Amino acid sequence: MKNILGHCACGAVEVNIREYGNFVYACHCDDCRRRGGGAHMAVDPGNSSNVDFIKGKSNITIWIDEPIERGFCSICGCDIFWHNPADDHYCMNAELFDDIIKDASFELELFYDHKPAYYSFSGKRKRLDREFKEIPEQE
Ligand SMILES: [Zn+2]
Ligand SMILES: [Zn+2]
Repeated sequence: MKNILGHCACGAVEVNIREYGNFVYACHCDDCRRRGGGAHMAVDPGNSSNVDFIKGKSNITIWIDEPIERGFCSICGCDIFWHNPADDHYCMNAELFDDIIKDASFELELFYDHKPAYYSFSGKRKRLDREFKEIPEQE
């Protein structure tokens, strides 16, 4: 897909991903869960040349949690992005992008060893721990 528009809950912030598929992953890390109240569903558009801030960039508050920057809408609180300035790598909230999530493939869970026991997703997919090592299937 090309030029995939996304927006926060209140609409103050609009972003565009120039090119991406339909791949969505979940992050179970402590920060994502605490900020969002659950696993964080994300997309990985890559570096800033693939991401345009169309509207409301001044409404994005950035929390610098060294070495990572996390941007969220200062009006509605919606998570917008995770950014590593060292290699200019963006990951973004998948739920901003209606055209991605309507037919998303979900094949990866990150920080699976941080996931609390009270929830889990059904189905089989790759699961990585905090060291990005694969966690074998357990039934
Ligand atoms: Zn907003
Ligand atoms: Zn996370």
